[in-house]
Amino acid sequence: MGGIGSGSYPRNDKAPEIERTRCLDVRFLRKNNLLKPGTSGTLRWSCKDDLLSQLHYHVGRDGIHVQHQDHAGAWKSTQQTIRFDYTPCHFGGARCWFLCPGCSRRVAVLSDSGQGFLCRHCLGLVHRTSSQGKRDRLFSQKHKLGEQIFEDYERGEGRLKKRGMHWRTFKQQLAKYRQLEQRLYGSSHFK
Ligand SMILES: [Zn+2]
Repeated sequence: MGGIGSGSYPRNDKAPEIERTRCLDVRFLRKNNLLKPGTSGTLRWSCKDDLLSQLHYHVGRDGIHVQHQDHAGAWKSTQQTIRFDYTPCHFGGARCWFLCPGCSRRVAVLSDSGQGFLCRHCLGLVHRTSSQGKRDRLFSQKHKLGEQIFEDYERGEGRLKKRGMHWRTFKQQLAKYRQLEQRLYGSSHFK
């Protein structure tokens, strides 16, 4: 897609850095004069000759509307409007910033989170949330198993084998239960 406002990121001839190439940098847009209202075009991120993702954009008065297509197996598309904010410059005029769609912080760089562009603070939260989700899943697995194998399972603790359960089965399941505990608390948990 050529035409006015179409551009591409400066190529990095060394090893490709995915993290860096999937960023939207307001300074890059400014430098290439792509922040003028009414401007539209396509930015492409590629690694060697492979197209990784592309972004169609249209600049409005107070923000940039983007449709980002990510080639993860098949093209996956997200749409966002990223608002602008301005701070006065030393020598007159105003400097343009992005307002992060997640937290409204004024930032120069937004990165692809997989579900739209976010600032690095929000991306940190996304990573924390997903590891929290993993922990929650481990907890519920542990509780489910605990209820199945212990007669006296209460508040995450159990000692007695479930009545009617074979010792062999109990020992096998207990080993699994201990593994889940270890993944949750580390080996220091063992009493
Ligand atoms: Zn943010």
